[in-house]
Amino acid sequence: MTSSRNECLALDAADPLAPLRAQFDLPPGVIYLDGNSLGARPRAAAKRAQEVITAEWGVGLIRSWNDADWFALPRTLGDAMAPIIGAGKGEVVVTDTTSSNLFKVMAASLDAQRARAPQRKVIVSERSSFPTDLYILQGLTRLLDDGYSLRLIDLPEDLPNALDDDVAVVLLTHVNYRSGAMYDMNACTAEIHAAGALVVWDLCHSAGAVPVDLNGADADYAVGCTYKYLNGGPGAPAFVWVNKRLQDSFWQPLSGWWGHRQPFAMQTEYTPDDGIGRFLCGTQPIVSLALVQCGLDIFAQTSMEALRRKSLALTDLFIKLVEERCAEFPLTLVTPRDHAARGSQVSFEHPEGFAVIQALIARGVIGDYREPRIMRFGMTPLYTSFADVWDSVEILRDVLTTGSWDKPEFHRRGTVT
Ligand SMILES: *Cc1c(COP(=O)(O)O)cnc(C)c1O
Repeated sequence: MTSSRNECLALDAADPLAPLRAQFDLPPGVIYLDGNSLGARPRAAAKRAQEVITAEWGVGLIRSWNDADWFALPRTLGDAMAPIIGAGKGEVVVTDTTSSNLFKVMAASLDAQRARAPQRKVIVSERSSFPTDLYILQGLTRLLDDGYSLRLIDLPEDLPNALDDDVAVVLLTHVNYRSGAMYDMNACTAEIHAAGALVVWDLCHSAGAVPVDLNGADADYAVGCTYKYLNGGPGAPAFVWVNKRLQDSFWQPLSGWWGHRQPFAMQTEYTPDDGIGRFLCGTQPIVSLALVQCGLDIFAQTSMEALRRKSLALTDLFIKLVEERCAEFPLTLVTPRDHAARGSQVSFEHPEGFAVIQALIARGVIGDYREPRIMRFGMTPLYTSFADVWDSVEILRDVLTTGSWDKPEFHRRGTVT
């Protein structure tokens, strides 16, 4: 196993993915381990933004809805990203936010169940979910005001016990944002279906991070971000996937004109588009949407299998080096050691995790912090090198050894952590 910086440099020299790093603009002096929160900027993005703003908007003006295919973007981007999540053409659109897409798919799945099994009124999800997922469920059940309720499990292994004849839909986050723990999508989907419920997968920390095969698992619905591992840019629109077998039967409540079969017929009555198009709502942020392609273009040059191999090597190395070289400090690994249960991040708990992360950021190692006490380090094989892993652990060791994290400025909290 790797125990020196030179060995890490040798791993980088032999890494077939290493050249892809040149397609990102990363500032000098920064080791970026936060691509799980906001992906780095593809080099092509600046030029593309310039082109959209000056040529397509500036010169093309309103003609660009047709001439630059702006109107088709949610669908063309959906088709371009489909292979990354094991989806087919016409099954994905890139639109809106993950939060709003969750609202749409949860309402759609409850509607589908109302037709099949109206007595099922329980939504199962996880207490450890990213909060917006739970907040959206709370808003939806309040709006429906029809006997719907939430049942939250504490641990993945509690799922079987939570499934009974009352459950309509289960919402699970495939890779947990805090711990980096990953569900077995095939097994859970089969288990949920056997119990008569539908499943919605949140892929925010999976898309572009681990191989996902939605059709292989025969899942029902999925949502996720493009601004994390997919490098779409801050606030870039999210994606939504629906299994083909559900596409023409489902309804969703944000029935805006972009989801209409003929938006420019300007009819009084809403008639949903066939298929995934009915998940669209209104006019999209085109500048931001157009940049999503720049991130996808880099994925098209490799495969999720190759990325996964490197991701596991990076996370294995990070865990080993932290445990060996920072052994005397109160660090507890939160992320599963089992490869099958691990996403593409490593989380360690430390009693002063917040301040330690701030001290690391001041030294150019950008990870992040999540309550309570969790330090997260995202490994993004498109641009993280083995030498980055070595250097970041050495800087962590120095911050812990010198106690430099215990300065007042590292305890101050900003609005975004
Ligand atoms: C990042 C993330 C979100 C973000 O939702 P937005 O609507 O984009 O703010 C939602 N769910 C999970 C699990 C996430 O990791």
